Parts: sequence; C-alpha cells; structure tokens
Amino acid sequence: MTSPIAPPPPPTSYRPLQALPDQLWECVIVGGGAAGLNAALVLGRARRRVVVLDSGSPLNAPAPHMHGFLSRDGTSPLELLRIGRAELEAYGVPVVAAHVSSVSKTSLAEAAGNPHFEITLEGGQRLRAQRLIVAHGMRLQLPEVPGLQEVWGDTAANCPYCHGWEVRDRPLAVLGVPATPGTPEPAGMPGAGMRAAHLGVLLTQWSPDVLVFPNGAEIDSVGMARLEARGVRVDPRPVVRLEVEQGKLAGIVVGRDEEVVPREALFVAGAPAPHDAFLAELGAAFLPSGWPEVDFTGKTSVPGVWAVGQAADPMHLVISAAASGARAAAVINADLLEEVLNTSHTGHAGHAGHADHGTFSPANVARLLGEQRHAPPRTAPTRRDPPRGGSRA
Ligand SMILES: Cc1cc2nc3c(=O)[nH]c(=O)nc-3n(C[C@H](O)[C@H](O)[C@H](O)COP(=O)(O)OP(=O)(O)OC[C@H]3O[C@@H](n4cnc5c(N)ncnc54)[C@H](O)[C@@H]3O)c2cc1C
Repeated sequence: MTSPIAPPPPPTSYRPLQALPDQLWECVIVGGGAAGLNAALVLGRARRRVVVLDSGSPLNAPAPHMHGFLSRDGTSPLELLRIGRAELEAYGVPVVAAHVSSVSKTSLAEAAGNPHFEITLEGGQRLRAQRLIVAHGMRLQLPEVPGLQEVWGDTAANCPYCHGWEVRDRPLAVLGVPATPGTPEPAGMPGAGMRAAHLGVLLTQWSPDVLVFPNGAEIDSVGMARLEARGVRVDPRPVVRLEVEQGKLAGIVVGRDEEVVPREALFVAGAPAPHDAFLAELGAAFLPSGWPEVDFTGKTSVPGVWAVGQAADPMHLVISAAASGARAAAVINADLLEEVLNTSHTGHAGHAGHADHGTFSPANVARLLGEQRHAPPRTAPTRRDPPRGGSRA
C-alpha cells in the first residue's frame, strides 16, 4: 500500500537556499503548508529571525479546490500557499524549497541549558535554531487501486467536510483500506472496518445513496447495524479498479466478472499516519496512537520543539492547521523572551525570570485557562525508542 500523492508542485516563490544568511535562527519551521506558513507569519510580524523549509508537497496538493476555509472557500490549495509565501516576503521571512533530512539537539544546548537545534537538509546543508516548529503534515494510507491516482483530490477524496457538498445527492462510494499485512495499525486508532463504517454513516448527511466497498476491511456487527440503520448498502466484492471517464469517477469495477457499479464520487477510508521520524529522533513522547504528545499550544515533551497542523493532529482542516501554527508562534515568541529574561549576560540563570512568573509558565497558563484544559492525556504517553514504532503497541 502506498500513498498516491501527486508529485510536488513547481517551487514558485521560494527563496534559494544559497541566499540564506549563515546565522542562528530564532525559529526554524519544517514544512510550509498552512500550519507552517501561518506560524512564520506571526513570528515574522513579531520580528523574529525565522525561516521556513518546505519540500512543497502539501497533503491536499492534488485537490483543485479547497473548501471550509472562511473567505477562501473554493480557492486552489496551492494558490493559498502561494499567497501565504508572498505575504511572508513583506516581513522578510524566507521560505526555502528544501527537504529536511534530520534534526538534532546540539551540544550547545547542553552547555547553555537552553534549547538549540541543528537541522540538516538533503544535500548536507545545516541550519542552527533556538526553537523548532515541526509542521510537516502527515501521511495518508491509500490503496493501490488502478484509477485512484487519476481522480484523487477531485472525485475521490477522504474528507466529506472538504468535498461532500460538491457531490451532494449523487451516488457515492466508500472504499475500505485494510491494514497492510505485517504492519498492524497503531493501538487507539479505529480499525479499517470501523473507519469504513464510520465514513459510510457520515456520508448519509450528504447523499441518500451511499455504497460501502470494504475491500477486505472487516466491518463488525455494530458497524453493519449502523450502516443498515442509515440505509447504506455494503458490497463485499473485491474492488478491481476504478472506471474513469474524462478525468471523473464513473464507477467501481468489482468482482471476478468485473461488474461496473456506477458511482460519481469515492471516499477513501484510509488511515492517517504521522511523519514521526524527527520527533522520535529528538526523543519526544508519543501517544499510543502514534501521534506526538503536545499541549494545547503544540508544545511537545522536548523543550523548544512544537508540532502543529497535521504533524500533531490528523483531524485538522486547513484553517485549523493554520490556526495551530499561529498559536504556537505566539507562545514561541514569549518563550524566547523568557529565555532572555532567565539568562544573565554572563550566561547564567538571572533573576529577571522565574519559572512561575513567565507568561506561559505552567502555573500561569493553568491560572488563565483552568486546570481542566491541561489535564494529562487520557492514555499514557510513551517515549519512542529506536527502532521506530516499537512502543506503539
Ligand atoms: C485530497 C485532499 C483534499 C483535502 N481538501 C481539503 C479541503 O478542501 N479543506 C480543508 O480544510 N482541508 C482539506 N484537506 C486536508 C488538508 O490537506 C490539511 O488539513 C492541511 O494540508 C494540513 O496542513 P499542514 O500545514 O498541517 O500540512 P501540509 O499542508 O501537508 O503541509 C506540510 C508541508 O510540509 C512539507 N514537508 C514534509 N516533510 C518535510 C521535510 N522533511 N522537509 C521539508 N518540508 C517537509 C510538505 O512538503 C508540505 O508542503 C484535504 C486533504 C486531502 C488529502
């Protein structure tokens, strides 16, 4: 099973890597999707030395239109990001076309007691940073069904909130995505059958004609009863390929006799999966579901590192991913000020700062927002040891 994500869009409005000054960045942002760019906008406007490193392949790149974003409904997702990069130019924030291959805490961090990171790019170039925002999005497990690539992002998608309205009242299909043999899905994530049943039920909000093709995913009796209650039919025959006409889905080809079941749109119940390598390298704590443990600002368990957008939460739409970046940026700006206050010119802890006086100290945040919002996660986080994924079970 691989993800048929389209190749990266051409890197327009990016700065060349060679043009970057060799300096200690106050914040390096890995990923220039909505989350990373909005974080950069807020930090740039706060006059921080910030740079965005982006490999240019946001998850929704194959979609011609983006929906559910107030004031930008129907805009091309790539156009939104192009506008974002242009806005950053005005604040002197560079967005560089670059793929980050690793991140590490530097020895300087240990020496000074403050977080410092080294970011290594494909090609070997290195950047240094005081704070790190991980905004590299997530992966979506999609099946290798012939024809899916052709219609993905248009008449095939995964999210009804993004693309349900456009196909309202049309004949819809749900495609189950069973786990790849040998790679069990993380504990705490809904299984393949449950995902397919959930999507089938959900889609009845948009159309009365929904047909689920589990395609090997096992839907339990509860799932079947819920589908039946909503008038959703289930076709157990294996999916052979998609019938595509003039770039649009026309049907689902199933079974040995390759019957074409006419359908106008397909929703794929694939499993979201985190790009977790950097955070694992840094020793971050993860939830049993495989997602990083973050607080409400995106702060991870590693001092100085935030995770925002779908790097931290697969539920994000574009607008909420952008919002999570903005919030993290404001907290990072304050955190950098706390670092200055807490460090005298001799390099030792000074008197101006105090653990309980900083605006975003745990004590003050609890006072501002109430203890409840800072309750620990219901499931115990785990620290992931290499090899990756070992602690998910
Ligand atoms: C087909 C489809 C359609 C969708 N339609 C909608 C919609 O209509 N409305 C909506 O609200 N949401 C939609 N979504 C969801 C939307 O894609 C996400 O909410 C959004 O992309 C999350 O933003 P992000 O910034 O967290 O991650 P992304 O947008 O995925 O951005 C992550 C960025 O990080 C970069 N990156 C990754 N790894 C590295 C690395 N190692 N080094 C440097 N850069 C890296 C990537 O290239 C990418 O540019 C859709 C999703 C899909 C799959």
